[in-house]
Amino acid sequence: MDVYPDYVGLLNARIQNGQGTHVVTLNAEMTMQARQDPDLGAIIDNADLVVPDGAGIVLYLKLFGKTIERCPGIELSQDLIRHAGQTPSTKVFFYGGAPGITDIAADRWKKEFPQLSIIGTENGYVQDEAQEKLKDRLKELQPDLIFVGLGVPRQEFWISENRHLCPNATWVGVGGSFDIWSETKERAPQWLCDNNLEWTYRLYQEPWRWKRMMALPQFAWRALIERFTS
Ligand code: UDP
Repeated sequence: MDVYPDYVGLLNARIQNGQGTHVVTLNAEMTMQARQDPDLGAIIDNADLVVPDGAGIVLYLKLFGKTIERCPGIELSQDLIRHAGQTPSTKVFFYGGAPGITDIAADRWKKEFPQLSIIGTENGYVQDEAQEKLKDRLKELQPDLIFVGLGVPRQEFWISENRHLCPNATWVGVGGSFDIWSETKERAPQWLCDNNLEWTYRLYQEPWRWKRMMALPQFAWRALIERFTS
């Protein structure tokens, strides 16, 4: 039987040791995107830690005899922030979301953990000169823990291209988590999350997602074919 990995413990140790880390939180949608885009596939392959964010990934692994628990990226990130909130030497940076969102999210977290050291924020729409300024800031500040919420796969490409700026940092792609932490959007009710139905709530909140979500049945179908032809 596989042991449930202590991702938070592992990552906190890497943060303390300044071991540069790219964390990818993998779901079925991202897997299907990577099938179409080998560059994204290579980034996932080269990540230092890939966490099973989606229920589809967990079911896929189960089909191949691997028992592993789901670890939603937003919950992993929250645990890392809580730990950073008790470790003031850990410098945190938030990048992504609409203008103002990361500031609201940072204020909310700081209210809960006054010792939390969020040393900078930036919205996810800065371009050209402002984008270069962001990179200079990161180089100068050298945060230990950098959350990047630009959506998939933009955030994965951005981290891969820019992680050399802060080689000792832990970088986590967090999708729309800043929207949740700033209370701009609501996460699905717990009972839907517990029953692997969070996607239904996202579809209800953002119906335009239906096209992207077609990847889910395609993923399930491919998984079954792979299982029974391997
Ligand atoms: N976003 C951004 N810059 C962009 C495009 C998107 O910062 O150029 C942000 C957007 O504001 C939202 C997040 O990226 O906060 C995407 O959230 P979503 O839930 O769609 O993420 P995904 O499902 O792709 O992980």
